[in-house]
Formats: sequence, C-alpha cells, structure tokens
Amino acid sequence: MTTYFTKTVGCYCCGGQVEVRGIASTNSFGFSDLDFRPAEMARSTIATYPQYCPNCHYAWYDLNQGDPASPDAIQTSEYRAFFREGQTSLSDQFAAIASLADLANETSIRIRARHHRIWAADDAKDSQLATTTRLELCELIQKTNYAFEFSFDDSPNPGTETYRISTLLIQIDLVRRARNFETASAFLLNLRSSAGDNRFLTEIAQFLGERISDHDSACYTFGDALGLAERVPQAKDLDPLSDYLLRNHGALLKDVERNALRTIAAGRNQKWWMTSDPAILKLLEAGKPTLASHVEQRLKTEYGISVSRCPKCAAPLRTPTAKQCARCHHSWRPTSHNTM
Ligand SMILES: [Zn+2]
Ligand SMILES: [Zn+2]
Repeated sequence: MTTYFTKTVGCYCCGGQVEVRGIASTNSFGFSDLDFRPAEMARSTIATYPQYCPNCHYAWYDLNQGDPASPDAIQTSEYRAFFREGQTSLSDQFAAIASLADLANETSIRIRARHHRIWAADDAKDSQLATTTRLELCELIQKTNYAFEFSFDDSPNPGTETYRISTLLIQIDLVRRARNFETASAFLLNLRSSAGDNRFLTEIAQFLGERISDHDSACYTFGDALGLAERVPQAKDLDPLSDYLLRNHGALLKDVERNALRTIAAGRNQKWWMTSDPAILKLLEAGKPTLASHVEQRLKTEYGISVSRCPKCAAPLRTPTAKQCARCHHSWRPTSHNTM
C-alpha cells in the first residue's frame, strides 16, 4: 500500500507557499526493471517526484531548495515552453528540472531528472521521447562518468564496484531499448569481463546477449533476466502465517522481515535467494515456520498485536475480521437465526 502526505513548503524562487504531496510509505513487490525502475506499488508514485510551483512555474525535487541561477532561468522563454497553456505533462516537468540542473551543473539531478523523464515517457506511451531521452541520458552518464548508487545484488554495503556495474546495467538497458544494439554489445563485453564468477551477472549477461542479438528492445525485469518472472511470489505461494503478516501488518514489518518472508515464499528455488544481505540470509536459514513465528512474536511484544486464528483448527485467518477459515472452512458468521 502507498500512503501519501501533503505539506506546505515555501517556493525557492518566488517565496510563495505551495502545497506538495509526498510519499509517506510505499512498497514494491516483485522485480525492478533492468534500468532499476521499481516494481509496483513504488512504480506508480512517480507523479509525486517533481514539486511544482503554480505561481512561478519553478519545478525541482525539493521546491524550497535550488540554485541561485534558477529564479532568472525560470523567466526565460525556453523554460516557459515546458509550461505552455498552463498545462504540463509529467515528462515536461522532469525536462524543466533537467534544464535547471544543467544550468546549475548539478550532475546527479541532471541524470536523475532524465531517468525519471524516460519512465514518464514510457507511461505516456511516447516512445519517440523515451528513445531520444534514453540516448541523451546514456551519453550524459559517459560524459560525466556518473555512477548510480544502486545495488544490483541487493547488497547492504555496496561499494564503488557495485555502483559501477549497476550503472553499466542501466547503460546497456538504455541503448538496447533505444535500439542501438551495436553500442549495447560493446557495453555487454564490459559487463561480461566484470562478471567474474558472479552467478547473477553471468546469467544477466547471457540473457542480455540473447536479447541484443534478437534486436529486442522490450522492457524486461531482473526476474525475466534470471528466469524467475513467472515465479514472483503470489499469496498462494505463501504459508498462511506469512501471508497474514504481509497482508495485514506489512507496514509494521522491518524491510528485512518483509523481504525474507517474500523470498522464502518461493524457497524451492535457490535462485530466489537473490540477496547477499546477511540479515536476510540469517532469517532465511531459520526456515519458514521459524521466521514467520519470530515476526508474529515481535509484533505481539512490540505492538500487542495478536494473529487472528481459526477457533477450530488454529490456522491463521486471511484478515483479523475474517469469519471463515481458509484451511478447514469452519465458519462462524452470524446467521439470521442466531442474531435474532
Ligand atoms: Zn514559485
Ligand atoms: Zn480452521
């Protein structure tokens, strides 16, 4: 579930008070795209990334911050063109941010705004804009020698080598999806030589090699690349207690617990353990029943929350207010007879 908040901030450029929306909490369930775009629900929060002042048209990630050059820059006709007729698309807002970041020479925002603009263009099915922005971003990454601080293997302590490889994966995806397969092949050679004996990277490189030689520019996730796409855990893969905890108390779970419960959901396949986080690995070693009851115990101790169970067979219910057991089908719904 995604929850939002609104707050009022002072616009850096005009000083006006603007109400902006932010994300209080969200989650993503499944694999991110190969350019690290998160899975749902986080995927759909993109519209809250840019903050926009309707008074002066200033757009930035934090409206109360900015560069000294921005108040003048937002007066120019080039900048105003992003907001013609007072209407602006999400990809225009990211373009406006990118243009101000270019002037301010803020490398990470120059990169980030273009990355987000691509996702907005994909969502708007504007493939031409998505393609040109992909090529532009790839060039900018090379020119600035930028490294995304993403971890391709979910490492809790990623270092510069992890960031370099994650960035390389993004570059390959950018040019492949823009149908520049020749450049994609060149980047892929670099990935192969960096892969060493890392099983994830070897499998991803293999997958990308096939896509590139097929001239395939479609969107794929890490799950696709590792042959796991059809194995994204569903509620039916989960044991009843893990399902109950994720379904009803997901927001109270620590990230490590949430990830471990999901990872274990499809525990038959070792490849699911695509994490090098020692905290998750330790929980996973404990095994499914131990892990879920450990979480149940913690919620009870810390929040006084008890898991609702079937009065007949003691199986966890689907929700705290359920009136029928999914396991033994025992039902205690009040009937018209006994409520009279
Ligand atoms: Zn303003
Ligand atoms: Zn029951």
